[in-house]
Amino acid sequence: MSKPKIAFFEFTSCEGCQLTVVDTLQIHPELLDAVEIVQFREAMSEKGTDYQIAFVEGSCTRPGDEAALKEIRETADLVVAIGACAHLGGVNSIRNRANLVNVREYVYGEKADWFDTYPARPISAVIKVDAAIPGCPIDRDEFAMAVSHLLQGRLPNIPDYPVCIECKLMENVCMYLRGKTCLGPITRAGCKAICPAYGDGCEGCRGLIGNPNIDSIKEVLLEHGMTEEDIDAKMSMFLTYQVMELEGAQS
Ligand code: SF4
Ligand code: SF4
Ligand code: SF4
Repeated sequence: MSKPKIAFFEFTSCEGCQLTVVDTLQIHPELLDAVEIVQFREAMSEKGTDYQIAFVEGSCTRPGDEAALKEIRETADLVVAIGACAHLGGVNSIRNRANLVNVREYVYGEKADWFDTYPARPISAVIKVDAAIPGCPIDRDEFAMAVSHLLQGRLPNIPDYPVCIECKLMENVCMYLRGKTCLGPITRAGCKAICPAYGDGCEGCRGLIGNPNIDSIKEVLLEHGMTEEDIDAKMSMFLTYQVMELEGAQS
């Protein structure tokens, strides 16, 4: 029986999620027995154009990205967004809060007109996405689990409960009791609460849970000494696109 063919693609990203895939394949070489990788710029030079599962990293930030994404969608049976950039728009979406003309000039100076760009979007804003593997970067174990589920004909089982639940199971002392702040109550679990486990508050890289109480977390952050500006900055690192969408302000 032929193995399912898979391909990896990148749009606007740092490629850290694809590096995590390389890392995962070194830890789980058995995955390579189960699939045939036909395109993966991070690890090989071949560019096969026939594949059943497409893993897409990076957000859509230019009009030209749309045609490439649509071609991937037409070819693949399953499209999986990997990482916060593809899943949420990620850090690239921070610029959506500013005037894009100014942003382009700030980054590219007098050559700003050379670069065609528009507000950053998750790939689900352009094409149908069958599943997303969250995180910045993705979690190795979750990626391996997701591939295994996809090969069994089911979608990856990504948690829709907050990081706080994993954090409690890990018996971490809450950041709020340590004089710090944390977005764990509104952020999707699955990372083993790694930031609080190492003494840092969650920044929301896995995106919002299904029913986040944004007003309540803002109240808690204010009570713990953050200003409105601090809160705005904290909520914008990874959550700009989702929060603007909730506020109905996404263009
Ligand atoms: S989600 Fe993070 S690690 Fe992955 S490509 Fe985007 S910036 Fe890089
Ligand atoms: S440290 Fe963060 S994730 Fe952990 S329990 Fe406290 S608020 Fe929740
Ligand atoms: S704790 Fe938050 S910021 Fe850290 S990896 Fe998990 S979801 Fe991302």
